[in-house]
Order: sequence, then structure tokens, then C-alpha cells
Amino acid sequence: MSKSIFSKIIDREIPSDIVYEDEQLIAFKDINPQAPVHILIVPKKEIPTINDLTEEDVNLIGRIILTAKKIAKQFNLSERGYRLVLNCNEEAGQTVFHIHCHLLGGRTFHWPPG
Ligand code: AMP
Repeated sequence: MSKSIFSKIIDREIPSDIVYEDEQLIAFKDINPQAPVHILIVPKKEIPTINDLTEEDVNLIGRIILTAKKIAKQFNLSERGYRLVLNCNEEAGQTVFHIHCHLLGGRTFHWPPG
């Protein structure tokens, strides 16, 4: 399996604007932002889609959400609000097949999302 674009970012083969990194995760600014704050939180373990998650990944998924919370605070979004999005497969709009959580904030979002 060839490396995902996000693994290339993790391995510093392509540049990105990294805002957070630890042993398990990396977070960087989305190259095509859909809101004033648009950050992707990505596990270093390359998992193609949410469908591929197993019990083994429970802790990892928890870390992604807690890290999103931490980054939202850094960007002063905690009180205003923010949206977390995980797209799974084509109809949901997934384009990069290495799971990631979008953290979006800095503007009003609507529901249903459309
Ligand atoms: P998704 O559509 O949920 O798979 O989201 C993939 C996201 O990755 C999109 O919002 C893209 O703009 C973003 N993206 C793709 N390539 C890069 C890159 N090299 N650096 C930062 N973000 C990227």
C-alpha cells in the first residue's frame, strides 16, 4: 500500500503548518480551509477509513477528540463553539484515505449540514 499524503506530512516529506504533535497524533492546518480555523487531527497510524477501526483503536480515537478539545482552546474556540467532522468514504466526502478529524471554527455553522 502506498503512503497516504498525511503519512508524507508526518514523515516531513511534504510541508504543512503543524500546530500539534505527540507520539500518536499530528495536527496541521487544512490546505483548503472551510472556516477561519480548520485543522486536521490525524493519527500517525495509517487507518484508511472509520470502517477499519477496531477495539484496539479505542484509546486512539479518544485521544483524537481530547486533542481537538485542547487545540480548540488554544484557538479560543471553546466558548464560541466549534465543529468536529469525520468523513467516511465517498458519499460523506472523504478524499484522503487516512482517518482524520476536522476541527472547524471561527464562524457560524448550520444544521443540518446540507
Ligand atoms: P476529507 O475530505 O475528509 O478526506 O478531508 C481531507 C482534507 O485534507 C481536505 O479538507 C483537504 O483540503 C485536506 N488536505 C489535502 N491535502 C492536504 C495537505 N497537503 N495539507 C493539508 N491539508 C490537506
